[in-house]
Amino acid sequence: MADVYRNYVGGEWVECATKKTFPNVNPANTNETVGLFQASGPADVQEACQAAAKAQPVWAATPAPLRGEFLYKAAELMESRLQKLSEEMTREEGKTLPEAKGEVKRAINILRYFGGEGARQFSYQIPSERENVFCYTLRKPLGVAALITPWNFPSAIPAWKMAPALVAGNTVVLKPASLAPLSAYRIVEALAEAGIPAGVLNYVAGSGGEVGNALVEHPVIRAVSFTGSCDVGNALYEKVTKRKLRLQLEMGGKNPTIVLKDADLDYAAAVLVNGAFFSTGQKCTACSRAIIEKPIFQALVEKLVARTRKLKVGNGLEPGVEMGPAVDANQLETDLKYIEIAKREGAQVLCGGNRLSGGIYDAGYFLEPTIFAGVRADMRIAQEEVFGPLLALLVADDFEDAMRLANGARFGLSASLVSRDLTRVHQFINGIEAGLITVNLPTAGVEYQLPFGGTKESSFGMREQGPAALDFYTETGTVYLKYTQ
Ligand code: NAP
Repeated sequence: MADVYRNYVGGEWVECATKKTFPNVNPANTNETVGLFQASGPADVQEACQAAAKAQPVWAATPAPLRGEFLYKAAELMESRLQKLSEEMTREEGKTLPEAKGEVKRAINILRYFGGEGARQFSYQIPSERENVFCYTLRKPLGVAALITPWNFPSAIPAWKMAPALVAGNTVVLKPASLAPLSAYRIVEALAEAGIPAGVLNYVAGSGGEVGNALVEHPVIRAVSFTGSCDVGNALYEKVTKRKLRLQLEMGGKNPTIVLKDADLDYAAAVLVNGAFFSTGQKCTACSRAIIEKPIFQALVEKLVARTRKLKVGNGLEPGVEMGPAVDANQLETDLKYIEIAKREGAQVLCGGNRLSGGIYDAGYFLEPTIFAGVRADMRIAQEEVFGPLLALLVADDFEDAMRLANGARFGLSASLVSRDLTRVHQFINGIEAGLITVNLPTAGVEYQLPFGGTKESSFGMREQGPAALDFYTETGTVYLKYTQ
């Protein structure tokens, strides 16, 4: 019988009001239920929001460096459990164990980084025009923050929302993704063990339609930070902006890698395989379009296909496996649907294209990494986010054509260039429509101490992570203080 995991509300581990649970299933082995989580509803959201609102004034009055201490302690606890937490993540999400370990380490680093921000919440002192008047700004917390997170980075994303929200003096209600709620649970558990006061952090599992919806509509909420699909994010935008709440949306991408004719082709092929297929292409920053200059197209494609064919697909807990399964039956169906759409529109499958079967594959949602040639810019495979291990190859006549193709999508999350031409590198950095820009690196693989976010339809609101995160979770108070009468 699988373990039952409770919600964390007002400092207590509690069952949800309906007493019902939902299963968290291993996508590499659907016979395994990783855990049972609370199928919460609006009544549980109400409890959590009330607890968060009650705790907020005392938490805001707690000196920020002391707030940071709880994050440091939680980081220590998580580090002591690194192996267990990483294995759990592989079991609930499917990514390989090394990738899961990297992500848990990143969550730990995020807790430490924002723990340090407790002692570093800089503001300004600015001279007054008037005599004996002292002017400065200060950061004030917003109040209660609603955090809604996706399944694909089930530890890092909750961490990079919770840590800055908490250290800035907000209290939090977190709704994790239903497909991978355990990794976020482990962070909440560590913070609870670290002694974070009751009500400051609340965790409510349950479906987006029920819990997520009730959460963003609750009157105590002052800020909403959401990461997930454009469909859900755009619907939240309509609701949340009407109430003039602070809002941050991180959504989809159709991230391009441009390879210019001067590139080292083996290096470029490695960059593309990493960007497109690691984490099964289930990264918002995954590369799904390779835009290659005509003179090197054929030679690069041969190297790319050869490398891709060698990728070992399987259960991420097995040593040597490089790509795990799709996260669930729906995502696998979406991947297969787009393979059919691409074929119908005239693209050719250069490798992959099929669900894997036989042996361990029968128990999970495994798919071959898939590459398409003959892709035109207007095809759906070149325009729509799939969120699977599917890479579309486009031919560019020259650099200008490559930039036109790269910018010709409605998304603008990340983009990369492979080239040693310094002029082109700078022209790319200046002209590319993306929030995250990499050169001679994959589109994915960002770090927690720098701002994160996109442009166009990928994102809305202030950046996450790095120093920018505190701007979202605080508002500026401006003080004019005359020290004589
Ligand atoms: P999703 O379906 O939009 O779900 C994201 C979160 O929203 C989940 O917790 C979900 O709950 C919840 N939700 C669903 N319906 C809701 C509603 N009506 N009201 C409030 N909350 C609701 O996205 P996903 O499938 O988990 O994640 C994949 C997507 O995330 C991709 O599009 C990817 O590009 C994007 N992503 C973006 C970034 C970035 O930083 N730009 C990072 C990672 C992922 P349930 O789980 O219960 O449905």
